[in-house]
Parts: sequence; structure tokens; C-alpha cells
Amino acid sequence: MPTLQLGEIRVDRIVDWDGPFLTALQMFPGASREALEPHLDWLAPGALSADELRMNLPVQSYLVRNARHTLLIDTCIGCRKSHDVFRGWGNRSDDAWLAGLRAAGVAPEDVDSVMCTHLHVDHCGWNTRQVDGRWVPTFPNAKYLFARPEYEASAAANSIVFRENVLPVMEAGQAVLVELDHELDHGIHFEPTIGHTPGHVAIALASKGARGVMSGDLIHSPLQLAFPEWSPRVDWDSALSARTRRHFLEQHADTSTLVMTAHFPQPSTGQVVSAGDAFRFRYRSV
Ligand SMILES: [Zn+2]
Repeated sequence: MPTLQLGEIRVDRIVDWDGPFLTALQMFPGASREALEPHLDWLAPGALSADELRMNLPVQSYLVRNARHTLLIDTCIGCRKSHDVFRGWGNRSDDAWLAGLRAAGVAPEDVDSVMCTHLHVDHCGWNTRQVDGRWVPTFPNAKYLFARPEYEASAAANSIVFRENVLPVMEAGQAVLVELDHELDHGIHFEPTIGHTPGHVAIALASKGARGVMSGDLIHSPLQLAFPEWSPRVDWDSALSARTRRHFLEQHADTSTLVMTAHFPQPSTGQVVSAGDAFRFRYRSV
């Protein structure tokens, strides 16, 4: 179980899925083999395959504990979902993620807060589980903090993902709609980072001089450190997403901030370092 310590905050990474995803050319309209070729020495084989430029993509949660809170940042894909967004993500029966949570010493009843960076299929799946054919909150004692514009956009779309992963939480009275800069506790707060979705947030952690930030999907792959302007096809506003990404990278480059990514290859965490007018990622897991 990969564990990090940020001052008095303990962070465990709980992986739900890990495998080959789309190719970089499918994911990023701006990408080309010519542009990527000079970077393959540091990107391949971990982040993408050298032959077809296929991305390796884990889907994971960060379990965050301090003296007052046990909280989950993002809840991955989940089980028995009806969508078919990506091969192998729908209708899963694999509950290894729940076993991973228990292996970290946490039962679903122990989680007091759930924070989703955004409400896409791979970030809110374990919000709910199926019991007797009904979707119920997986964490019966938790408040689920949704950024208001993210919730409103998701509710307006009313997709199967909203109806299975988000609406049952609202109907159970466990959802709390908050502002984009909401503070849960001293040293744990949302940071507005919109572009990928209308209410996307990063989640910043600070304790005893140590800093970390869970970046969600404002950045999907380390190749975007070399090409911050490459936004994925799925972005809500790709120009805004690119500006948000560059600002985030400039803000954290050459600092000690531990960037905890949603989808970079394992160990998925590390530091941003500047490289000319772009950046590189230095993996660090402790
Ligand atoms: Zn994602």
C-alpha cells in the first residue's frame, strides 16, 4: 500500500484500475509522433508505449487522514455501472478497490468526507454501490462535497453517470454543494481549476510546511508537461484547460509541492521541474 506523509497528513493511494488506455494521438488532437519522438526516452515505457504511443493510465483515489478527518479524493470507476465509456470500465464486478481501502485500515463507515475533483465516470464511481438493485452511498457516514458548478453541469447533462454515481448521494441527503475554493479543514481546500469541466477543482493539502496537491484531470499524462497546450478531446473548454494547466505548472514548478496525479503511471506522484518554456515530471513516492 503506497503511503505518503505530508507533515501530519497521511496519504494512501488506492488503485481501482490500471492498464493501456487510448493512444496519445487519439487522446490529444494537437499531438503528433514527430513532436513526441524526442521525448520518448523519458516518457516510454512508463507513460506510453514507444510503438503505438498508447498511454498507460491508472485510475485511483487518494485516501487522506489527519487527526480530524478521514477523506477520499476521487472515487474511481466503481462496480456494476451501466455506462460503456471505455472497454472494461462498465459493469465491473472487481471490488479490489474496497479491499484496498480496508487494507489501509479504513472501512466505508469510517470515511467522513468525499471530495471529487470533478464528476466524470472515473472520478465518482465508488460514490455509490448497488444494494438490492438500488444505488446507495458507499460511505454511509460521509458528507460528499461537490463544487456547485460541477454538480449543476452534471445534473443538467443528467447522464447515466450522474444518475448512478451522484443523484443517489443527493437523494440520501449526503451531498453538500460548496464553492470552488471551499476549505474542509485547516490545510485541506479546493482550488478552482476549471477547463476540463465547468467546476473542476484541484485539492490542496498543507501540513507543517509540507505541501501537496491532487491535480485531478487538469492534466492527464506527463507528456503534457512537455506540451502544456495539448488538451484532450474530452475537455469542456480546451483553450481554458490549456491556460489552467500552464498556470498550475508554473505555480508548482521547482517547488517542493508534491503533485498527486489522477492518471500518471505509478507511483503517480512527484514534482514539477521547469525545462525551458515547458516542464518535466520527477517521480517521487515518499
Ligand atoms: Zn480522469
